[in-house]
Amino acid sequence: MLNDLKTKDYIEEAINLKTYPLNENDKIILTYSKETGLRRLVAKGVKKTKSKLASYIELLTANKLFCKKGRTLDIISQASSIESFKNIRKDVVKLIFSMYLSEIIINFGVEKDPNSSEVYNLFYNALAKIASSRTKIELYLAIIRFQLKIMEISGFALNFYCCTNCGKLIEKEDIFYFSYNQNGIICNNCKITNLSKTMVINRKIVKFLDTLKKSEFDENTYYDKMANEKLCKNCFLFLYKYIEFYSSRNFKTIQTLEEIL
Ligand SMILES: [Zn+2]
Repeated sequence: MLNDLKTKDYIEEAINLKTYPLNENDKIILTYSKETGLRRLVAKGVKKTKSKLASYIELLTANKLFCKKGRTLDIISQASSIESFKNIRKDVVKLIFSMYLSEIIINFGVEKDPNSSEVYNLFYNALAKIASSRTKIELYLAIIRFQLKIMEISGFALNFYCCTNCGKLIEKEDIFYFSYNQNGIICNNCKITNLSKTMVINRKIVKFLDTLKKSEFDENTYYDKMANEKLCKNCFLFLYKYIEFYSSRNFKTIQTLEEIL
């Protein structure tokens, strides 16, 4: 009997990504949970004005969810707030960028994800950094770090160190090519025989991204100090295209993003 109870009720830490109407009173909420990855849960009665649960299903908030097993989808019975990231909702630019991050999580996240706690922590730290950022550069740096790290966790780590094809160090050359299929830079020689999608990439961007890739959210590298808005924007757009190349679904936030870049 005790074991039975244990398997029926459980607690998860999760960040809300999206909601859908289920019926007149209830909603389905798509969350990313630290324990299991992408999850669809039922939030009962949240469309009613007096619902206690309603504030916990707000998008881009982190909550502790007390769940019970349902027939098809599990049901949230109670919740408590971990972090509301309220500064994100006070600033439209922060909000749109955060929605873009949540789209990446939806597109690359999976159910029963073995990397769920790593992805959750990355998402949580990125949202915290976005919420506390005071300048557009700080905001960009948080997003770029997230873009680099989420691709690494998803198995599409970017290589900026040597030619991805032949291993040659290409530090002294001015022109770099980036191969989408090979996930990294390639040298002039390899470019001639490479038929996959490539683009010319500026040396400054290569150095900048290589440093950011190896650093943490709270680190203040030489390149953090050197960053300007134009460089950050170019890096963001470069990574945006790379992520889009590997995404099975189109991003809906791009049009809105283009208006605020
Ligand atoms: Zn090469």
